[in-house]
Amino acid sequence: MNKGLISMLMLLVSIFTVGSSGSATAQANTSHPYVICIDPGHQLKGNNQLEPIGPGSSVKKPKVSSGTRGVVTKKPEYVLNLEISLKLKKELEKRGYKVVMTREKHDINLSNKQRSDIANKAKADLFIRIHADGSNSPKTEGFSVLYPAQNNKYTKPIYAKSKSASEFIYNEMKHTTKAKSKGVVPRSDLTGFNWSKVPVTLVEAGFMTSPREDKRLSESSYQNLIVKGISNGVDQFFSKK
Ligand SMILES: [Zn+2]
Repeated sequence: MNKGLISMLMLLVSIFTVGSSGSATAQANTSHPYVICIDPGHQLKGNNQLEPIGPGSSVKKPKVSSGTRGVVTKKPEYVLNLEISLKLKKELEKRGYKVVMTREKHDINLSNKQRSDIANKAKADLFIRIHADGSNSPKTEGFSVLYPAQNNKYTKPIYAKSKSASEFIYNEMKHTTKAKSKGVVPRSDLTGFNWSKVPVTLVEAGFMTSPREDKRLSESSYQNLIVKGISNGVDQFFSKK
């Protein structure tokens, strides 16, 4: 080959490489290519304006509810959710994942649909929503992990992976926290699931309306166990994918 032909070929190669960059290039450069979007549930003020619970749905729900509150700690759920989420971000980054947060402060106004939009836009490999539970009974305890139900028309393409991730996270959380648990639970009524185009899971870390569980959920050492369980589950999900 003559010099001119070689340099033209090299130019073509470089044009192709630039043109097809993006995820493939990013993946080649890191040991873990995966992007995780974390959504710390709720915010300083709920927003009762309505939004459709899924694309084209006539059923509407408030954009974002105000969440529960610690019966002993008096801590609002949105504060606990962000505490756990920031620890989770740190741990997942330590393990090599790229983490995108929907929020890192309390005083924002982001609907559940908008939170899914962030995960979709980031092309997250997994969207993890962090919440805590509330009940009328102080005796109700236990964490659970929610996933989009199988018969839900909005989430068919993400059902299998979402369920798989939820099961891994649930089993690992059981192992690390040794806490009471209420299972892996299918849901079709959650706006934040129905708008998601990427595999999604929601961790209900425990009941803030149980005095015992509320206190424990705010202990840094217990939060670390939750984070370790979720992260181990995430590792397993991606290693078996
Ligand atoms: Zn919540």
